Amino acid sequence: MARITLDHLAHAYKPDPQTPKDYALKEINHVWRQGGAYALLGPSGCGKTTLLNIISGLVRPTRGRILFDDRDVTDLPTEARNIAQVFQFPVVYDTMSVRENLAFPLKNRHVPRDRTAQRVEEIARLLDLTRVLERKASNLTADMKQKISLGRGLVRPDVAAILFDEPLTVIDPHLKWQLRSTLKEIHRALDITMIYVTHDQTEALTFADRVVVMHDGAVVQTGTPDELFERPAHTFVGHFIGSPGMNILPCRVEGATAFIGGKAIDLQRAYRALPRTERIELGIRPEFVRLQPRGSGLPVKVRRIDDIGRARIARVEMNGRALAASVPDNIPVTCDEASVAFDMRYVHIYADGHLISGEPV
Ligand code: ADP
Ligand code: MG
Repeated sequence: MARITLDHLAHAYKPDPQTPKDYALKEINHVWRQGGAYALLGPSGCGKTTLLNIISGLVRPTRGRILFDDRDVTDLPTEARNIAQVFQFPVVYDTMSVRENLAFPLKNRHVPRDRTAQRVEEIARLLDLTRVLERKASNLTADMKQKISLGRGLVRPDVAAILFDEPLTVIDPHLKWQLRSTLKEIHRALDITMIYVTHDQTEALTFADRVVVMHDGAVVQTGTPDELFERPAHTFVGHFIGSPGMNILPCRVEGATAFIGGKAIDLQRAYRALPRTERIELGIRPEFVRLQPRGSGLPVKVRRIDDIGRARIARVEMNGRALAASVPDNIPVTCDEASVAFDMRYVHIYADGHLISGEPV
């Protein structure tokens, strides 16, 4: 187990990078504490796999250092880093039995036979693979093969960390739920640093104690699932996390008053620190925008009502801008003219995408 530090890390696949656009990873400074369950969350193409491969040593970074505890491993090959990695697609030896596949990473490191046998049994039990241990891997489904890959990643007890790169991609949806909680239990049982890469917020938020959100080659926020939801440090995080995501409303501000299409919103009531800039974005989750009858709030046009199980979400238009609002149970919405009211306690203020408002009063 180890603490993993990324120090001024940057990577460009292009040989002679010039502009920031040439970099798949821009400048990453980050510390993963020892023993945690972490998720690395971000949309496809934001640099998650690149970052994981740099930690494991499959990719050599253009700039910066990687440290395991205080040891600089930047120049060490993968084998010398003591990292286990599980990829998106199964990596199994078809000619071997499941037992041999699981034992392979230990055999490779000359772990004594009885210790290996014991560990294989333990991991097989955790992943519910015990009854197929003697089967040839080639005869198994993609689901099963990926479970074996997970097992191979988990089997070594002495690793600095285990990296999972979207490991449930090929797994059948109903089994996905189950495996997700299994992985969480396994983390508790093994107490090894785990970094779980995904573009799926549900996967990230259920697996991890702390989530690192990436966007466009950079880390934009690190926090607990609750922190990311309640206080997104960047409009990207607000919009990306939650379904539907946070409403982001660009507006003009004068003193303590924000203007959205000529309508004034008093910010003084909600915040101590007021923005010093003229153009801001207000961020507010649909949960805190209430749809109500026409005339009592900011006028909107209702475009659609979505029933998302736990709530009804209205898709409305305010001054030509799309907005999601909650529909209270006691409000029948039949007309297309309505209004919305913001719960000002939950309005965040952003400038150029970055959170500038203080704690709610
Ligand atoms: P993610 O895993 O978040 O989807 P990646 O790390 O795979 O993102 O990719 C980040 C960026 O780097 C993307 O723009 C991708 O096209 C580019 N990229 C990834 N791998 C390579 C490669 N081997 N050669 C060139 N560009 C790459
Ligand atoms: Mg990837």
